[in-house]
Amino acid sequence: MLVKVLRNFIDGREADAVRGETLHLTSPVTAQPFAVCARSTKEDIDLAVAAAKRQLDGGEWSKLDGALRGQLIHRLADLVERDAALIADMDATCIGRPPIEPQILDLPNAIGTLRTAAGWADKIEGRTIPTPGYMGMPTLSYTTREPVGVVGAIVPWNTPFMITCWKIGPLLAAGCTVVIKPSEETPMSALHLAALCKEAGIPDGVVNVVCGYGEEAGQPLCEHPDVDKITFTGSPEVGRIIQATAGPLFKRISLELGGKSPQIIFDDANLDAALQGCTLGLFFNQGQVCAAGTRILVHRSIAESFAAKLADRANSIVVGDPRKEGVTMGPVANKAQHERVRHFIQLGIEEGAKMLAGGEVKGDGYFVRPTVFMGRNDHAVAKNEIFGPVGVVIPFDTEEQAIELANDTNYGLAGTVWTRDVSRAHRVARAVRAGAIGVNCWAPIDPRLPWGGVKSSGLGRECGLSGVLAYTEEKVVTVLTA
Ligand code: NAD
Repeated sequence: MLVKVLRNFIDGREADAVRGETLHLTSPVTAQPFAVCARSTKEDIDLAVAAAKRQLDGGEWSKLDGALRGQLIHRLADLVERDAALIADMDATCIGRPPIEPQILDLPNAIGTLRTAAGWADKIEGRTIPTPGYMGMPTLSYTTREPVGVVGAIVPWNTPFMITCWKIGPLLAAGCTVVIKPSEETPMSALHLAALCKEAGIPDGVVNVVCGYGEEAGQPLCEHPDVDKITFTGSPEVGRIIQATAGPLFKRISLELGGKSPQIIFDDANLDAALQGCTLGLFFNQGQVCAAGTRILVHRSIAESFAAKLADRANSIVVGDPRKEGVTMGPVANKAQHERVRHFIQLGIEEGAKMLAGGEVKGDGYFVRPTVFMGRNDHAVAKNEIFGPVGVVIPFDTEEQAIELANDTNYGLAGTVWTRDVSRAHRVARAVRAGAIGVNCWAPIDPRLPWGGVKSSGLGRECGLSGVLAYTEEKVVTVLTA
């Protein structure tokens, strides 16, 4: 039964797609459609971008100072706090997660991100820069930071509300306006966020949401001449398309892409804590986490026993309908993911990686059993971002070899080092090429900390002060003072 019709949110109002087309949202638990949603095209993007631009070109928003913007963002955070359970439920429904997961992680993080950004809104400062003067005459030079303009925000399905807030909080703090293109799988919480922006008193047209497919709605957003910046979170494959589209138009671009993050476990580590961290890093959100620690590099002396314990943990996970009592893991988010994950598991077996836990799950939904391999870094399961509950334990002999293996990947989003040796912890943290390293803790994200990757994991940083400044342009003003 289709229970809900989701419409775009443009210039403070709900709107059907101009062409009147819709798409279905499918439950990963039952593989049945449960809602219809606007299927938008260039015409809808044009309307949304025009609304966003009006607010910057002398609109009410452009006249608000940072302190007032901060107040509005705080008010938005209050409303998100009020509706947190509802929003967590929306995301959980769309991707088949136990609702408790977004309740305890995504929503507190999203609220924290909005409040952190609200705090920065009136602290976006310039500098006074001493120079010898201009053509022998004295000058005063200072810099200001101005909003980059209209932002196109393209969001994936895995933690949709949290990632949308990673973009919305900082860009509103900087004074930008936005057109959000949520994933075609998870538009619900972004639409709710837009309605909350209106309720908070953020002027109509500052935050717009246009739903639909990437090629039909995302692509025209990247091509639109009045969009000044694209902030994209998603796969490296689509990131490359975004860069090829928006780059030649000289739009500012930030890309938060995939990962194949290492967890390095030395033989002096607290192994219980490491096991706990690895289990979380592998299986949280069905492994559909950009920072998932899927390459588990373990000192050879403990590799077999550690892998066996990790497999036991995997086997103890109860897979099923995430709303049923006792179930600890839902399905993967959609049919394409289901096929992709099963394809890689099969490839792992064919290439000779040893499967210690995992296997098929019967039923209609997109279920996969948490899977642990013992293998090598050149196995397909260790090279590719699978984005499902699949990990590979890879033994190493020396610290140098562990670092070499950790860096032998196209990705560089995150990494974890498990050791009790403080000097080694710092050494390895410095040597692993990644945007974020956790020492004795997996993926410690926080609204105040910058987040982003190197290599194929992306370009630029979100969150913290770096995340706010990413939505500004620096301008220098020089005054002749003679
Ligand atoms: P995806 O790249 O398939 O899609 C992401 C978004 O891009 C969706 O909204 C989609 O509709 C849109 N899109 C698709 N084609 C487009 C096009 N041609 N032009 C414009 N937009 C287009 O990614 P996904 O499957 O939704 O999400 C999974 C990926 O996201 C994984 O690779 C994961 O690692 C990554 N991710 C990264 C981070 C991070 O912070 N680095 C966080 C979460 C997810």
